[in-house]
This record gives sequence, structure tokens and C-alpha cells, in this order.
Amino acid sequence: MAPALSLRSRAAARAGGWAAEASRRLGGGEGLVIGGRVSLALDPSLLAGLSRDRAVALVSGTNGKTTTTRLLASALMELGPVAHNSGGANLPSGLVPALAGSPAGSPAALEVDEGWLGAVADAVSPGCVVLLNLSRDQLDRVSEVRNVASRWRSVVERLGHAVVVANADDPMVVWASRDAAHVRWVAGGQSWREDAAGCPSCSGRIDYDSEGWRCGTGCGLERPAPAAWVSGSQLVVPGKGNHSIELALPGRFNLANAAMAAVAAAEMGVPLERATAAMSQVTGVDGRYEVTAAGGISARLLLAKNPAGWAELFDVLTEDVAPAVFAINARVADGRDPSWLWDVPFERLAGRLVVASGERWRDLAVRLRYAGVDHVCAPDPLASLELAAEHYGTGTGAAVQVDRCADPGVRRDFRSASDREGEGRAERAVADDRGRRIVDVVANYTAFQRYRAALRPLRDAPRLADQAPVSLK
Ligand SMILES: [Zn+2]
Repeated sequence: MAPALSLRSRAAARAGGWAAEASRRLGGGEGLVIGGRVSLALDPSLLAGLSRDRAVALVSGTNGKTTTTRLLASALMELGPVAHNSGGANLPSGLVPALAGSPAGSPAALEVDEGWLGAVADAVSPGCVVLLNLSRDQLDRVSEVRNVASRWRSVVERLGHAVVVANADDPMVVWASRDAAHVRWVAGGQSWREDAAGCPSCSGRIDYDSEGWRCGTGCGLERPAPAAWVSGSQLVVPGKGNHSIELALPGRFNLANAAMAAVAAAEMGVPLERATAAMSQVTGVDGRYEVTAAGGISARLLLAKNPAGWAELFDVLTEDVAPAVFAINARVADGRDPSWLWDVPFERLAGRLVVASGERWRDLAVRLRYAGVDHVCAPDPLASLELAAEHYGTGTGAAVQVDRCADPGVRRDFRSASDREGEGRAERAVADDRGRRIVDVVANYTAFQRYRAALRPLRDAPRLADQAPVSLK
């Protein structure tokens, strides 16, 4: 802990530690956020005190901030210990324990909720701020996209000497960042344009083409020339060379996250070559992307919280011979309003069998029906994997009827498409390196945690599970 902390701050941090410990003993998870809340209640200036004499990078955006922060932290670890909030605790109460638990003076890579960026930046005086993207998210909790962009814009105006690493492909981010004193534009891509059709500057229409984008009214808002971009698996930084990015994480969007993280790491003193090499060692982010052995199949957990996130993940799903499990909850942390499901382009999945799961499997099933996606239902995590395994390698074609969801029990009554067609298509199945079939599970926030908890006993089971799969039944 920083020696410069006041007596009050030290007492507040200590009380937070006790509260976290008490919460842990009472079964309240790690208790870090509760500890952080207690600390901040006793000393509201604690975040500022803990950030003094550190190089702090903040990462914010609607999608990819947890992964980008993890990648940035792995790069900064080249310099030594790093303060880093994992587990998605991205409010001030989550930042306090991350800072308090790291050596004084160590650099910090902190993920920040997009609505809290201003308050956190004012407190920690960051040296670098990474702005990834803005799209619709949790309709009942988060402000409308342009509102958030407007607040970011005023945050950026207050940043002073900090370097803003901003996504040149997102008009909302560019509008928010363009008056920054120091900005590094990175071509981070934009998979979701539905929230950036209108110009945030003049309300004109944004025109997109292969060259980029610009406001159609000529108000001057346009894609700035990027200082770094991804070409294939190379990070191209004119004047600083090409750097190979060999990520263990899937997807084009993660290459873009890595590009943003690498440029930020370079601003914090880690050479690009070392930053990209360190990032290639990251294999999972808080349980995301990790493959867990579950009986005869392997499950890969993927987290998506909003339409942009779902659309990105559709591109990394295993080939369509594999059924995918989608799990939806609508608790407070997810947003209580699941109507965002209607914005997700599920139509793109026609031809793939989906297992609808989670507490809101009925909402999902209705959406899938209107999207014309064949689906079956199993609200329980392990049952959903079992069902996916049953249909592995069958594809769907026209043989499986949609809407088998009125009663999840009926799923046992119908045969797989391959049975009916009399042809075994299992040889097309995608397998992992141990020959196990991989089922992708895409879940929103609390549904993801439920799957992670359900799979943990299987993952932690004796290594035996790798050689002699146990039945899920
Ligand atoms: Zn305009």
C-alpha cells in the first residue's frame, strides 16, 4: 500500500479488508466488492490516495473491456506487479481492492464501467485511457448511447496530459475523443453499426464505405487516419514496425482488443514486441473462452451481454454441425428487460441447432422461432449440454422441426436428423486436441456464472475425466 496514504485512508482500507474477510467466511464469494464499499464509505478519497504515484490506465467501452484490460495487464506485467481488477468488478468499489492489494507504485490496468468513467478518471488521474466502443447495453440501466458518448466527451476534455487510445472505427468514440490533447487512433473495428447511424455531432447520417466512414452532411466528423491497425495477424504501427499477434483467444474482435491494449501498453513503457508476446499467453479471461471437459463433450464458455457482443460471437462459433447452447437470464446484473434479444441477428444462425437455456429460455425460444432457427430447450446447464451432445454432428437441415419447447421433456421423443436421413454426419464433428467434441455455450452475465459454477465440479474432477468420460446422465 502506498506509504503516502493518510491515517484515515489506511484505516478505511483495513476496515474494507476485514469486511471482505467476513463476507468470505459467510459465504459471500470473494467479498472484495463489499470490502471496497466499506472502505469508500469510510474514506471517499481512498481511490485517489491509492492511485497516487502510479501509472494508471483505464479501459472502458460497451464490449471487450474485461478482455482488453486483461491483455493490457499481461503486457504491463513485463514491468513487474500490476494492479488489475478481474472478475468484472468495474465500479469504484471493485477498483479499491485491486489497488489496495498491489504493491505501492505498481502500474494499474483498470476496467471501468462506461457510466463511471468520469468519476473514476477524476479520482485516479490516469496516464492512459482506452476507449473501445459504444453500443446499446442493458436498456433499463445504462443511458442511451449518445448520452454516454456526450459524458465521455466531457471526461476527455478534463483529462489534461493523459493519452487517449481510441477506436477510429466507432463514430461515437471518435466524437467523444477528438478534442483530446493527446490521442492515438487505433482501427479497432466496429461489428455493430446500428447505434452509430446518426452523427453525434450534427444528427446527420453517417455514411460507411470500404475506406471508413464520414458524416453525410459534411459537418467534418469522419474516421481519423489510424496510427495503428490490424492486418491479418499483424499489428501495423507505421514508424514502429509490424508486430505479430498470435492470440490464444478467438475472433477478429479480440485481435482488435489486443491492438488497443498493445498501443496502450507502449504508452505505459512496454515495447510493442514484448507487449504482443505477453498477450499471446492469455488463454482465458475470467472463465471466458476456456474449454471445460464435461463428460464425453467439451464445453467452451463464451460471454455476451448485448446485441453487439452476441453478433461478434456468432463469428467464432464452431462450424454449424455443432449445436450451440444459448443461455439467457434477466436478473439485475443482466438488465431486467430482455427485449434486447430482438436486436440480436439470430437469423444468421439458420441451419444450426440451438439449445435454449437459462432462466429466460422461453423468451429466447420465441425469438429463435421468429428468426427461423431450429431449437430445443433445456433450462438446466448440464441438461442443455447433454441435449447438445445428443444432437452433435447432426446439423439440422429441414429435418428437425422448430419449437420443441412447450415442454422440455418432449426433447427425448424426437430423433436426430441423421437418424432420419440414415446418414452419419458425426465425422464432420469438430473436436478439440484430445478428440473431444466442443459445444459452444454463449450466455449473458448471470447465466454465464451459473454455467461456470455448474461446470466447475467437472473441471476440477480427477484428470481421469480426460481419458474416461463420465456420463452426464
Ligand atoms: Zn455530422
